[in-house]
Amino acid sequence: MSTCNLCGSAELTSLIDFGAHPVSKHYLLDPSEARENWPVSLAYCEACGLSQLVDSCPPEVIYDDYVTLSSWKPQPQVQHEIETVQRLGNLNLGANIIEIGCNDAMFLEALSRAGYKNLLGVEPSNDAGEIALKKGFTIIPEFLSPELSKSIVEHHGKFDLFISRQNLEHIRDLKGVAASIDILLKVGGLVLIELPNYDCNLRCRDYSLWEEHVNYFTTDTLTYFLSLCNIEILHKEIFLFSGEGIFAVGQKVNSIKSSRDYLPELRKQNIQYAQHWQPFQSKINSYLGNQKAAGKKIAVYGAGSRATCLINFTGIGTFIEVIIDDQPEKQNKFLPGSGLPIVSGESLYTQDIDICLLAVNTEHEDKVIDKHKSWVEKGGKFWSIFPPSDRLIPIW
Ligand SMILES: [Zn+2]
Repeated sequence: MSTCNLCGSAELTSLIDFGAHPVSKHYLLDPSEARENWPVSLAYCEACGLSQLVDSCPPEVIYDDYVTLSSWKPQPQVQHEIETVQRLGNLNLGANIIEIGCNDAMFLEALSRAGYKNLLGVEPSNDAGEIALKKGFTIIPEFLSPELSKSIVEHHGKFDLFISRQNLEHIRDLKGVAASIDILLKVGGLVLIELPNYDCNLRCRDYSLWEEHVNYFTTDTLTYFLSLCNIEILHKEIFLFSGEGIFAVGQKVNSIKSSRDYLPELRKQNIQYAQHWQPFQSKINSYLGNQKAAGKKIAVYGAGSRATCLINFTGIGTFIEVIIDDQPEKQNKFLPGSGLPIVSGESLYTQDIDICLLAVNTEHEDKVIDKHKSWVEKGGKFWSIFPPSDRLIPIW
């Protein structure tokens, strides 16, 4: 039986069963290639309010052959995050700093440029970890656990700053992470956390969940999680990043009273989100079905995981001709599930596409539209299928 990733409670209420789907990052070389399907099912914990995927695809299936480097994605927020921690915590250049899931050490490099010397990374993925090692950083190639944390403290001492960016949403054993933070961090030490904001999914009816993200935090559930390791939030902000992101800075205190006053309101929002799923699914299908019946040719721009998942969950693949992606590595492959071909932007012109559904991060939409001005001038129409865009197709 499933128990909550954060608090261990067995009181999990099922919210949405999206069906069974292949791993979204495993692109096909041939559209008929067979892939195993795994259940994608969202549940809500009645005890702590964390929404999470239950009985989902095992991590070894997802992370086998996993090559996604942090440096691939532009992250304009990095400098601001470092400056905010410095301002709040008075962090001197001799501070002892650890980052879990440091990937190819993109953030550690930024800290190094800012003058910090005592930097340690934890990264279980081989490819990314090796790149970080080659850059000269000390990297521990393991998954974080309380046992590992004890041994790290023996060798490196306790830490002044603990960093976890776009990481906690992937980890099933959050209780282990909370215990690890408590072991690693000095009293008075700081945490820097960045993760996707599920409040945005709830508010904007964004159903583009992703099987890699097993935990869906709101600012309230993040505050509760941090209170379990005696961390008080000093600063939090919301920013645009693959939907919305939460950036929070906290400080370890001797003891803290945790509150779950947010539960009734959060539960109500989750139930409404679940109730709107089926109407949303029929509306998006009938809208695109009508466009296709009227002779319009439809493409999707962006072959990322959120796009793959949304297309598979809603079943709108039958109305779409092609998936456009600017990354040459993805072109000439096929989307898992729908089997749709991934092509370059040229196809907007050569295949006489009438409607192009943007499935890129909201902050990148203008750039894509600008690039294809001449297609728009010829009558092409861009819409978006990713909240919180203001170009969403009119069913939202
Ligand atoms: Zn819970």
